[in-house]
Amino acid sequence: MRQEIKSVWPLKPMVVAIGVVLAIAVPAAAFVGGFFAGQNTVVPPSEIDAQIDAFAQVRTLANWEAEVDRQPSAPITRIVAVESGDNLMGVLLRAGAERTVAHAAIQSLKGSYDPRRDLNVGDELQITFGPGTIRTVEDGGSIDTAKYVLARLTIPVSYDRLIDVSRNEKGDFEASEVERQLEREVVEASGTIDSSLFVDASAAGIPPRVLAELIRIYSFDVDFQRDIWQGDKFELMYEQFRDENGDIVHQGDIRYAKLTLRNTEIPLYQYTTTAGNLDYFNAKGNSVRKTLMRTPIDGARLSSRFGKRKHPILGYTRMHAGVDFAAPRGTPIYAAGNGTIVKAGRNGAYGKYIRVRHNGTYQTAYAHLSKFARRTRNGARVKQGQIIGYVGTTGRSTGPHLHYEVLRNGRQINPRSVRIPSGEKLKGAELKKFTALRDARDLEFAQLREAAARLAENTVDEK
Ligand SMILES: [Zn+2]
Repeated sequence: MRQEIKSVWPLKPMVVAIGVVLAIAVPAAAFVGGFFAGQNTVVPPSEIDAQIDAFAQVRTLANWEAEVDRQPSAPITRIVAVESGDNLMGVLLRAGAERTVAHAAIQSLKGSYDPRRDLNVGDELQITFGPGTIRTVEDGGSIDTAKYVLARLTIPVSYDRLIDVSRNEKGDFEASEVERQLEREVVEASGTIDSSLFVDASAAGIPPRVLAELIRIYSFDVDFQRDIWQGDKFELMYEQFRDENGDIVHQGDIRYAKLTLRNTEIPLYQYTTTAGNLDYFNAKGNSVRKTLMRTPIDGARLSSRFGKRKHPILGYTRMHAGVDFAAPRGTPIYAAGNGTIVKAGRNGAYGKYIRVRHNGTYQTAYAHLSKFARRTRNGARVKQGQIIGYVGTTGRSTGPHLHYEVLRNGRQINPRSVRIPSGEKLKGAELKKFTALRDARDLEFAQLREAAARLAENTVDEK
């Protein structure tokens, strides 16, 4: 038995379809089955089976055409999530595609998308079926069966890009990468710290990705264990992106943030210099980026300071040559500064250990890791903030934590005592440009804040 695809789209809807696409030829407006944008329906998997069955009742081509005439062939889009152990063929078959058709669709991806490498668990594929016929050749004769046939497939590659596999005029599959049209909005959030920045900012609705970014941009200046007090305040403004269904698909950068720590205000502004460097600057136009980060980990609690202490395992008093940050196993560890990895491997009581050389004077070391990041190996160059490994409890350790050392001329020193050279200072025309942006951001935040306050007031009034 051999199966081949005779035709996929009846001619008439095809012509209509092209008209529709041209009329709305915005790159990603075609996202939800743009062939019949507007007429298309997204049907839950349970219902589509019934629809396919109903359609497959029509056996002959003549009947089928008549049926199509009576019933304007609305394509059906099914959303299927990739599950653990899936491959693309499996997903398409599960959605109801014929194997030969699915194969042709997958073939068309060559050069633009490698499903074996790029398909991720959780990716949501939009799979659209349109009316077509499947010809079955058997014993010298052939039977045409009208069926819903795979017509279009979209695979997300990032929050704002997707691969679109559609039929061309000849009915063959063609893959292209398209930009999704997302709506960008700027969101404000603010609050008072009662227990910790992490806890209270989470409670204020700041998403984890944004919060991690907030901690990172302040980690050059703020020791989150020592500098934060009850009653301190935070405010920030960040971007988020919504898809055509209004769902938030991505949280973008922090544009502005301010921590008020015991009456000291520390505002930061995201700014891209004329040379193209995106960074955070304080109100005077000084970059927050320093040679070394104080805290090369997100949201961790400082659990042991540098200096003499009673060793938790050995029992006697000895020098603690670094600082410990308690954090769950698997928490990412960042390179504290730009540099070269001079050691990545097992190192006695340190367990899995990394040392990074930053310049002729400074090195940093990271111990007790559960595992190394993929590109962490001797001689590899690292950038500040790059993930180099993950928290664990290898070596002589009582529980998951990062033991972090700063070495000056080969000797461990107290990381807090390091005089860290400051980053870029904006000057002249660049500073003028920055100042204008800073003032615009301040105004933007004030307006968002006011709007939010008004909304809250109205909500109260209605009650
Ligand atoms: Zn330690």
